[in-house]
Amino acid sequence: MTEHRLAALQRRLRAEDMPAIVVSNTSNLRYLTGFEGVIDDGINAACLVTQDAALFYTDHRYSDVAVAASEGTPWEIRVQRESLYVELCEDLKAMGVAVLALETSVPYGRFSFISEQFFGSVRVVDGWLDEIRQVKEEEEIVRIAEAAAVTDRAFEHIVAFVRPGQTERDIALELEFFMRRNGSDGIAFDCIVAGGPNSAHPHATVSDRVVGPGEFLKLDFGARVGGYCADMTRTLVIGTATDRHREIYGAVLAANEAGLAAVRAGVPAWEVHEVARAVLEERGLAAHFTHGLGHGVGLDVHERPTVSPKSHHTLLEHSVVTIEPGVYVEGFGGVRIEDLVVVEEGGYRLLSHSPKQLIEI
Ligand code: ZN
Ligand code: ZN
Repeated sequence: MTEHRLAALQRRLRAEDMPAIVVSNTSNLRYLTGFEGVIDDGINAACLVTQDAALFYTDHRYSDVAVAASEGTPWEIRVQRESLYVELCEDLKAMGVAVLALETSVPYGRFSFISEQFFGSVRVVDGWLDEIRQVKEEEEIVRIAEAAAVTDRAFEHIVAFVRPGQTERDIALELEFFMRRNGSDGIAFDCIVAGGPNSAHPHATVSDRVVGPGEFLKLDFGARVGGYCADMTRTLVIGTATDRHREIYGAVLAANEAGLAAVRAGVPAWEVHEVARAVLEERGLAAHFTHGLGHGVGLDVHERPTVSPKSHHTLLEHSVVTIEPGVYVEGFGGVRIEDLVVVEEGGYRLLSHSPKQLIEI
């Protein structure tokens, strides 16, 4: 099922004249092997991929499931006897591999250990798997769309649930429970629920602060289905919105819509950011937009491409990205409106269907 992913990595090895790469990043392992129930967070596992072989290293806890999962695939399973990386380096020696690529995400301790054990030279390579992962396959998009649908249902639920007097934590827990009860494997990331002045911090942590009237309430959350993430932000007003609430909200919504309208395959990511930022500039609010417009979403909630002023990435057909402008006014509050979309040839397909008009509770 995922042989073409392995084949894409092997093509890259040939193109770079690199004999082998060790992959140990958990999401990359899941992506490359497609093994279900074999790779947990923090598990002792790694892949060694050469131009024509693919070895998966694990320990005895996962050996049976790994062998079963690898049936009919090119993967050869190696069960660790004592030390996974000592044995991997022995295999490299037996294969006569003299140069080895490691991912940039490899922890320094492991990098040092492999460098000492391996008789050849080690080179750190950046983004090879990220590039392959950027363009999603149909089955990946289906899972992300399911995660987005659970996220939409959670929003509908929370709009009915929220009352002044609840704490940010009450609301965050309700969101998480709802998603877990309704098809989410867990959550894509810790829910952000930020009321009043806390909403002025783009990535505020949930607190025991009571949510009260006359405040923005920013909700940034996402379900996870089949390992794939969703990511959406909506901002509510508790009580009646003032002119200031409406001015800020209207500007962010206009920036969100302009950003979405700029999305299509082949566009440089920085350009999409610039289109949305220009809308805030016209309204004198650009100085309050302090982060990138968006990011790729997949097995990880933040992945390639980066949609920001300095991004060198291009939006590719079947990438999945967020468009999330925000305006944050210190001491008052902030608004972010974030949608998840699939990049298409002439535009985009929206995966977040929650309403975007200003909701007062
Ligand atoms: Zn988000
Ligand atoms: Zn996001």
